[in-house]
Amino acid sequence: MAVQTVDILGVPFSTMTMEETVRYVMQQLEKKQENTFQVVTANPEIVMCAKRDAAFQQTLLQVDLITPDGIGVVKASGMLGTPLKERVAGFDFMCNLFETLSQEKKAVSVFLLGAKPHVIERAARTLTERYAAVSIVGTQDGYFEQEKEEEIIERIQEMKPDILLVALGFPRQENFIQNNKHRLHAKVAVGVGGSFDVWAGEVKRAPKWIQAIHLEWFYRLCSNPTRWRRQLVLVEFLKEVVRSKK
Ligand code: UDP
Repeated sequence: MAVQTVDILGVPFSTMTMEETVRYVMQQLEKKQENTFQVVTANPEIVMCAKRDAAFQQTLLQVDLITPDGIGVVKASGMLGTPLKERVAGFDFMCNLFETLSQEKKAVSVFLLGAKPHVIERAARTLTERYAAVSIVGTQDGYFEQEKEEEIIERIQEMKPDILLVALGFPRQENFIQNNKHRLHAKVAVGVGGSFDVWAGEVKRAPKWIQAIHLEWFYRLCSNPTRWRRQLVLVEFLKEVVRSKK
């Protein structure tokens, strides 16, 4: 089944809901595939990065599934007359996937790549304690010398994980997966940004009620004001969407 998409500023977003996305990725886990199935959960920052960086845009056009990460993307789809049903943010998506796999007793091996050494160890512990289906088969922090990359890829190849989670920040995590998907021997790989920090308890998500009224971005801004520059990109993104409508 080909994934149905809507185009937002040149990025093809999947129209699937959270539940449909979980099911779809579970199907990929059951398949034998030569190349790793790559998932990108794209927020407005990623879309704007692709607008500026043609090579990154090419990377995005080749990934297997792009989900709308953030209310900004969902709002933009409505403004463009092709509304997406809901947001499928990276952290929530991974939690839902692991939860469903655990409920259905479908074991998965997972390799974690990225974040600081103490963060990755704590994230690995949380995932193993929280989700019966998950066994962590390897971890590697994200602060390694470039020369070590080949060695890391070899470790991933040896472990043949069902799922590879890469938390190196964008666009590095997306480029890493794209450049190596033919030889990672992982079934599915997802760039997960700051998710390991949340599983490790280093960064707190907004309370559920704030998420429900779509103000998580504002909560993040208040809890980490140094991010305000990064969040300005949301304004740029919405301006660009309005401009593209004309
Ligand atoms: N990171 C890393 N190596 C680096 C730079 C960043 O492993 O050289 C990690 C960082 O520790 C964090 C993750 O990449 O766990 C994503 O960081 P960011 O806060 O930028 O994520 P986003 O806001 O994009 O979700």
